[in-house]
Amino acid sequence: AEEEAVFLGRNAESRRMRRECADVLPGGVASNWQDAPPGAVWISHGTGSRIVDVDGTSYVDLHGGFGVGLSGHAHPAIVEAVSDRVRRGTHFAQPTEDTVVVARELARRFGLPLWRFGNSGTESTMDAVHLMRAATGRMKIIKVEGTYHGHHDSVQVSVYPDTEEAGPSGRPNSVPSGPAIPPALARLTLVAPFGDLGAVERLLEENPGEIAGMIIEPIMMNIGLIPPPDGYLAGLRSLLHRHGAYLAFDEVKTGLAVAPGGAAEWSGVVPDLLCLAKALGGGLPCGAIGGIPELMGLIADGTYEQVGTFNANPLTMAAARAVVCEILTDDAYRHFARLRRVMTEGVEEVLRRFGLPGHVRSYGAKGAVIFHDRPLHDYRDFVEYPDQWGNAHWLYQHNGGVFLPPWGKCEQWTVSVQHSETDVRRFVSNLERMAASLR
Ligand code: PLP
Repeated sequence: AEEEAVFLGRNAESRRMRRECADVLPGGVASNWQDAPPGAVWISHGTGSRIVDVDGTSYVDLHGGFGVGLSGHAHPAIVEAVSDRVRRGTHFAQPTEDTVVVARELARRFGLPLWRFGNSGTESTMDAVHLMRAATGRMKIIKVEGTYHGHHDSVQVSVYPDTEEAGPSGRPNSVPSGPAIPPALARLTLVAPFGDLGAVERLLEENPGEIAGMIIEPIMMNIGLIPPPDGYLAGLRSLLHRHGAYLAFDEVKTGLAVAPGGAAEWSGVVPDLLCLAKALGGGLPCGAIGGIPELMGLIADGTYEQVGTFNANPLTMAAARAVVCEILTDDAYRHFARLRRVMTEGVEEVLRRFGLPGHVRSYGAKGAVIFHDRPLHDYRDFVEYPDQWGNAHWLYQHNGGVFLPPWGKCEQWTVSVQHSETDVRRFVSNLERMAASLR
């Protein structure tokens, strides 16, 4: 409570904004998840690794705008690319050269030859589901319990399901995320626990010729951070193919962040479809879907209309070109590896020295402290472990000048090319302060 008082006291202007704008913005924010406890922080501006809120407080930004922030704020290459594009016009609903350059670079990185662009992760995963259905004529898909793939109907199923509704752990129910999701549609989304090849095999066998494919976050990043068991992703791919179904990776968070070619490169498993968003636009709204000719050909021949007024918007493509060609270079990934080492070794040392329950998981630019003494394997492990440590951690970091994503338990840190070792040591020292004060 004392920590919360400090937090609330320092954010008077944020609280005023939230109160006063609720007449025009439902809930006083622009997206429900901007209002995660302990309340929205209104931001004035950001440069480099830092953001400044409307109360004038400066933070090292490890929230990274929910994982967008690999480039950091106001990166000179993005400022230049976008300023140049603004002067030459920003929207024609016709392709521009930057689009081809970005598509070629993504093809090189991810090992998939054909790409299309949209405006968000939601659009990318929606295209993936639609393409798998269009190619097979089958309407059912499989997703993993506890994963978030955006807010279109087919994937708004068993995202953070209530455990009472969720059914047995080995055979989860398909739980619609609220009354807006038609139960008839939710029934087409079958649900499997993460890491369990047998469960996916059972679904395929029980629904012969009915499953179009599976969408999965290859490293789970909405329930803390859970890596796939050895052989799981390759096993899924061959299992699905054996049943005439496709594999789509949702790399909205992992793509560009865990390796230059995302979790596909990290795992050595190239899926049939791969969804990107977040970091690709360098802070501008951008989504992308890449895939094999067999699937992407359905776009070319008009079987599936992948359309959108703002697809490959010139401003976004100018920023994305700067991101993939100038900012996220091999040097950038070496920098991420250095920061990652400082953070993981620092956190592990603090947890050990103070005997705190917890472990750290990290890949590339992303990582999380999981305040639990056992490793997590799936959603059921995730719901079981208490969140008070994660919440306390958020407040200690916040009051110590480090801005983390909300829900200490679910989300990850994101570092950028503009973060320094000093920035991330602050994260470790805030954790140490928390550990010392709770001893
Ligand atoms: N997929 C994953 C794994 C995500 O984490 C998110 C957003 O957090 C999405 C898809 C949806 O992306 P967007 O918010 O850009 O629609």
